[in-house]
Amino acid sequence: MIKKLFPIAMVALTIASCGGNAQNNAPNATKCDQNAAADCCNASSQVSDYKFLDAKEKAFDGFTVYWLKDNDGERKFPFDLFGNVADDIKKEVNMPDGMPSSISAYLIKTNGKNILFDAGLGQKANGQLLNELSKVGVTPEQVDYVYITHFHGDHIGGMLTPEGEKVFTKAEVYVSRLEKESDLGKGEQAVKMSEKYADKLHIFNFGDRLPEDVLAIDAVGHTPGHTAFKKGNLLIVGDLMHAMALQLPHPEYCANFDGDKEKAVASRKRILEYAKQNGLIMSGMHLPY
Ligand SMILES: [Zn+2]
Repeated sequence: MIKKLFPIAMVALTIASCGGNAQNNAPNATKCDQNAAADCCNASSQVSDYKFLDAKEKAFDGFTVYWLKDNDGERKFPFDLFGNVADDIKKEVNMPDGMPSSISAYLIKTNGKNILFDAGLGQKANGQLLNELSKVGVTPEQVDYVYITHFHGDHIGGMLTPEGEKVFTKAEVYVSRLEKESDLGKGEQAVKMSEKYADKLHIFNFGDRLPEDVLAIDAVGHTPGHTAFKKGNLLIVGDLMHAMALQLPHPEYCANFDGDKEKAVASRKRILEYAKQNGLIMSGMHLPY
């Protein structure tokens, strides 16, 4: 069942769609906001225009998706993480104790196959992914495909055991060419993972259809090859938003984690608009559980 995640008060907020007063409100976002405008929507949007996955399990046409919460306990992000957030916007969001977030992965069961989207923090960092998988009746050996949104540690930490061995021993692993060829792809964690899965590692380009009809979508900005995935009416947006309470009504704000803020804002606006226009149900790796 899908319902809105936001309190009624949020529904009335208008998305600051194409810059507008962003220069006054969000000095840190000014530069990226101007360039993002080209990709941006014309009409203003309401928070209520967007649909989000809000169930642990949901059946779609031909597949079922499971939300796997990887972090133990609660997770909140402070405003500080988003640069210089204007006081009136802080007041509007009204979450002085932090904005709810999560570290999440997703599993799709379809045609007798199990597709995992990201692998969370890993057991060393107390990631809960394997427990969550077992709750939905899937062992690591039964994962057929892993589709990776990007190479940050909270997304690929769970690919290897604490001893550095493969967790998903039979899985074919997919990552975007841009991510693989970026500096991040040459980082220690990505290299270790890539080496262990070398015989099962596949590179895709944006626009490619991966096995089981999953479309890989350009969501660059957060990282050089950051990818969103679409299957049917489900859109897995990766790290497009770190604090939905702020970034859905104000997509011009970037988390400090966004590597290229200009591109991150452009992707956030473009993909939100795409989801709205197509009535897609979004889920993401840091959306509130
Ligand atoms: Zn992340």
